[in-house]
Amino acid sequence: SSRIKVHLVEYANVQGVFRKRMPNTHKGTYGHALVIAGSPGKSGAALMAGRSALRSGAGLVTLAIPENLRVPLEIPTLEVMTTSLPETPQGTVSLEAYDKILNLAQDKRVAAIGPGLSVHPSTVELVLRLIRTLEIPMVLDADAINAVAQNPEVLLEAKAPVVLTPHPGEMARLTPNIHVQNNRIPVAQETARKYNVFIALKGVRTIVAAPDGNVFINPTGNPGMATAGTGDVLTGIIAGLIAQNIIPVEAAKSGVFLHGLAGDLVVKDKGEYGLLAGDLIDAIPRAIKFIQ
Ligand code: AMP
Ligand code: MG
Repeated sequence: SSRIKVHLVEYANVQGVFRKRMPNTHKGTYGHALVIAGSPGKSGAALMAGRSALRSGAGLVTLAIPENLRVPLEIPTLEVMTTSLPETPQGTVSLEAYDKILNLAQDKRVAAIGPGLSVHPSTVELVLRLIRTLEIPMVLDADAINAVAQNPEVLLEAKAPVVLTPHPGEMARLTPNIHVQNNRIPVAQETARKYNVFIALKGVRTIVAAPDGNVFINPTGNPGMATAGTGDVLTGIIAGLIAQNIIPVEAAKSGVFLHGLAGDLVVKDKGEYGLLAGDLIDAIPRAIKFIQ
């Protein structure tokens, strides 16, 4: 019974997520996403995740970033809001940021944590504490997954649904005894079950696994997407959908489908070479329209 719950993600599954909007709505209707990301040299990861959440339809996005990045990010952020967090001497978000983040989370529907965040010990400790205590759904990517890899049992203490979006290298840190790429379906399925989390194991044919044993294989995407920052875009997309009250399993499935489709649309007019993660972000609205 554990091996027959494998499904393909199809247009019909995803269409229900991108329904026509009701006229009597406002930005509050579509939710506020909190993105905890960035460190010196990686401010772009935070910005791309935030922009992607807006491009996916979230009403509001606040980037919570280390203090040293706030002023430089004022200029390119435009629609994305920023707020600064206490930082370590290395300029990464520090454990001291915990109380402020708890406050920030009060009026948010989702927290995306990890893009470009660093694995400074204080930052790792903060991430583990947030996972244990935040009461809103979390999307954990990149350095948040690297933090979890130091103590995966923390996932069992989470108070709210958790979606992890590892690339194969990050997945291998979570499951060091298994060859990830030779066992993509079972490793995603078993890890989702064991830790009661949703997993999007990225790569060619991204696999979404749910804690109930269901596994979904995504057909969209292409090797043009093998470029810096495309994972940060996926994190923002999934968070943007959860902000709109899409349940985590549907947000993960339709998020990976939309992300790959955006990549396919970009490649259709530009080809596979030289695609930038920013091109994917700009193609998200067109990909949503295509699905509808
Ligand atoms: P990351 O490594 O975190 O930046 O994530 C890379 C993103 O690009 C993931 O969503 C991958 O699934 C996607 N991607 C990278 N290479 C390919 C490929 N050859 N085919 C399809 N998707 C890819
Ligand atoms: Mg990544």
